[in-house]
Formats: sequence, structure tokens, C-alpha cells
Amino acid sequence: VTKPIATITRTKEIMERHGLGFKKSLGQNFLIDPNVLKKIVAKAGVDENTIALEIGPGIGALTEHLAFEAKHVYAFEIDQRLIDVLKDTLAPYEHVTVYHQDILEADIKSFLQDKVNADEQVRVVANLPYYITTPILMKLLRDELPIHSMTVMMQKEVADRMAAGPNTKEYGSLSIAVQYYTESNVVMTVPKTCFIPQPNVDSAILQLVKREKPLVGIADEALFFELVQASFGQRRKTIKNNLQREFKDRLSKDQFIELFEESGIEPSRRGESLSIEEFAILSNVCHKIIS
Ligand code: SAM
Repeated sequence: VTKPIATITRTKEIMERHGLGFKKSLGQNFLIDPNVLKKIVAKAGVDENTIALEIGPGIGALTEHLAFEAKHVYAFEIDQRLIDVLKDTLAPYEHVTVYHQDILEADIKSFLQDKVNADEQVRVVANLPYYITTPILMKLLRDELPIHSMTVMMQKEVADRMAAGPNTKEYGSLSIAVQYYTESNVVMTVPKTCFIPQPNVDSAILQLVKREKPLVGIADEALFFELVQASFGQRRKTIKNNLQREFKDRLSKDQFIELFEESGIEPSRRGESLSIEEFAILSNVCHKIIS
């Protein structure tokens, strides 16, 4: 019986056999703990109706565990060297397809249209390349893709920010961007020792479950996100001060007063105390005043 790919001995053996080193620039920190992988796959709820989408399969550590449970696994890997390795390590699994592609360049919408039937659920499961965690997630969230959930390993600090609620130091525009589309929870923290090479930072698994429809009704999404961004501009300043700096060309003094009065939001509050619903009210009133 061969050992799982995600063990230190097999990982080293595979890398040596293919004459490879780890590329730091591509965020290559491979998992070497099969128990962590079992937990990720279980938390993700992968089953025989699941189409698993993996970003950055590396040498196949997680891919293999997904293959044990999923109906099909599609994995996107940017590093050509690893494509050859994966042909070898994933040879026993016929229901795994690997693509040599940059996930940020891939047309995931048409891809899913081609590959997924109505009775199947798409779940993204990945140990993400940390240098592009946010761009990858925002791409997958924004495009109204038929993705049920995402269970992804990332830098712990980023996971905490994405899952944070109001009145915490982690809460900011990233929390709102993510929670506007999903319900997000940190499901597990993972120590550095579970990776080779060990990353410099602690890691965590974030679970993002897509909301059926966005949390709040928003008249103008671009304006909403602009207003959120501006409200956190200088964290120690009030929303009034932060918004005045950003919107002074679009709103008169009287309109600023109207904005806060009609929203029922105290202008002396700080951005970090506003819930997503309150930002939505503020942006909807702002939209009404401006247009
Ligand atoms: N899944 C493997 C594991 O858990 O051991 C490897 C995870 S490693 C943290 C991240 C992987 O993402 C690497 O294999 C890296 O080459 C790949 N990667 C980096 N940038 C990528 C991109 N833009 N598109 C697709 N894959 C990428």
C-alpha cells in the first residue's frame, strides 16, 4: 500500500525523483499532514455529488484526498513542472482532471457551464497560494458563479479579517467584501509544522458559504464598496470625516447632513462600528441623494 502523498517521506521522494525544488514565488508550501487534509475535506462537505474545484494542486496532496470523496476533481495549476508530477502521482484517479492554467486568467464561468449538471454541487477546496489569496477569492465571489461553498487554507491573519464582525480590529472593507456574498467562519487553525517548507506565518481554514442572495439590497454596488472603503480610510476618524474627504465633490454640506439624518446613523461613529446592513442603508441613501 502506498502512503498518502501528504507525508513528509513521500513528498520529499516525489520532489527528488522529479529533481524539483519549491518555488517560493508561487507560494509553494505543501501539506504533509494527512489528518489535516481529511479534516479539510470533511469540513468542506465533499461527497459523491460534489464537483470539487481545486486551485494549486501542487504535487497532489489535497487532490488525492478530494478524489477519495468527490464525484470529480478539477484542479488548476500554474507551474508546468508540477503538471508532469501530477500525471504521475494522480495516475490512479481517473476522475481527476488537471489543467495547466493560471486561475486568475481562467474563464471559470464557461468552464462550470460545460462541466457541471444541475444535480451536482460545486465546492472550492484549496490550500491557496498566499500571495494571491484575496484576488482569487474575489474573482470567484464576484462573477455570480454557481459555487456552493469554498473551504480554503490561507494565512491566519487574512482569514481572521475576512471572518471579522464590527467593533473588532480585524473588521474592515475586506470583511465586508467577503461577507456581502458569503457566510464566513474560521473552522480550524493549522500550525506551520504541517507544511514543507514551513511558511513564515500561521495558517487557518476559512469556510465561505455562498448566500442564496446578497445579505442586503443595494442600489449601486460600486457606490456601496466605495463608501465602505472610504469609511475605513483613516480608522481613528469618524465616518463623517472619512466620507467628507472622499465625497466632497459629490455632496454639499447640506447633503451630508441629509445623508446621516435620513440613514439614522450618527456621523460621529467610526466605520468599524457599522454593520454591513448599516453600510447598505448609508449607500442607498447616498445613491438617492446623488442621482
Ligand atoms: N495543494 C497543494 C498542497 O496543499 O500541498 C499545494 C498548495 S501550495 C500552498 C499553492 C499551489 O498553488 C502551488 O502548487 C502553486 O504552484 C500554485 N499556484 C500559484 N499561483 C497559482 C495561480 N495563479 N494559478 C494556479 N495555481 C497557482
